[in-house]
Amino acid sequence: MTELIARTENANAPEVITERGERAVFCGLTSIIWLHRRIQDAFFLVVGSRTCAHLLQSAAGVMIFAEPRFATAILGERDLAGMADCNEELDRVVSELLARRPDIRRLFLVGSCPSEVIKLDLANAAARLQGDHDNRLRISAFSGSGIETTFTQGEDQCLASMVPDLPTAQDATPRLMVVGTLADIVEEQFRRHFTQLGINEVDFFPAARADDLPAVGPGTRILLAQPYLGDTVGALRKRGAKLISALYPLGIQGTLAWFQAAAAEWGCSAETVQESLAIPIARAQKALSRVRTSLEGKSLQFLPDSQLEIPLARFLSEECGMSLVEVATPYVDQSLMAEELARLAEDVRVVEGADLDSALARVRANRPDLTVCGMGIANPLEAEGLRTKWSIELVFTPIQGFDQVADLAGLFSRPLVRERQLEVGSWS
Ligand code: SF4
Repeated sequence: MTELIARTENANAPEVITERGERAVFCGLTSIIWLHRRIQDAFFLVVGSRTCAHLLQSAAGVMIFAEPRFATAILGERDLAGMADCNEELDRVVSELLARRPDIRRLFLVGSCPSEVIKLDLANAAARLQGDHDNRLRISAFSGSGIETTFTQGEDQCLASMVPDLPTAQDATPRLMVVGTLADIVEEQFRRHFTQLGINEVDFFPAARADDLPAVGPGTRILLAQPYLGDTVGALRKRGAKLISALYPLGIQGTLAWFQAAAAEWGCSAETVQESLAIPIARAQKALSRVRTSLEGKSLQFLPDSQLEIPLARFLSEECGMSLVEVATPYVDQSLMAEELARLAEDVRVVEGADLDSALARVRANRPDLTVCGMGIANPLEAEGLRTKWSIELVFTPIQGFDQVADLAGLFSRPLVRERQLEVGSWS
């Protein structure tokens, strides 16, 4: 049985250089910000320190009017002998929370870095609490610790923790599972396009409601909406699902290829897909042409941050005419990235991992027109006259699909346009 459904050979893909050293990336807790918006009846209880609470508060803003759907249980210093009390305390906090909030249908216990939290077995705690609240909701645990996860890996850990709760499919009838958090509006558009292509058996995981758990089995075909979900894919494959190898739905070409890869599983040709989606493609081409002029010919360097770097580099070079100085990404999973790597020019420098000092030295030497990087790195580079784009914006903004193409390109053109306006302003 071949688990990976590959469509292209990777013969001309650029070589991937590996670097090891210091990194500066947000931890997996950050993913709670977009996950809690997506799974609208889930609650994320971080077991952590004051630092974790501050990170969440400042990343999410303070929600004054809404009932919050995440919180931090702050764990004080304990020795191992005190851990039994910790478990009791956690049980008490969870019981109080659930008594107060009958709307919660899924509770995530989220681990963090402090040594006191590492001593606590949250997977066991989740299983114990599940026993206590079995008919009421599902409870699972995952790690958002900065020692183990970068910010997008938080989503991977979260989804992987839900896979054991997915029901088993009763038969092997092919059924598509789109995996990865998408904005509701993007899900709606994608559902419409799948219907146009005659693919009606489609699940989105995670769904907007925690109880909407798609069945999984040998008929399940996984189509990834996000490229950083290696552990989730591994867990789904163990349940019999097969991965459709495809580009990611970023840009017109990426989105078209994504639908074509899925449709091929349902016996639909690439030409038929192109014809069926001609209207949204034409609309996207028109919208993109207005933004492309600001990007064409500009040089671009990615620092390793979101794991979206390689698909974005493909879109920005192929469809926006930007030249790639370097594409660095925290991890390269060849089984998830083969199609994307094959679309980059052979001489593009692709770096896996991080060594912050040497990466910054290369940015300063190259002085690209635009550097895509983490928030903490952007300000010092801006102070040196370099233009930057925060990569975290890419996970907070709907960027997938045809109708979002111009918005996606706009995220990169805005810093360049602003710079031009400042230059004009300083002369007038
Ligand atoms: S999980 Fe670790 S890196 Fe993240 S906020 Fe808490 S202490 Fe900091």
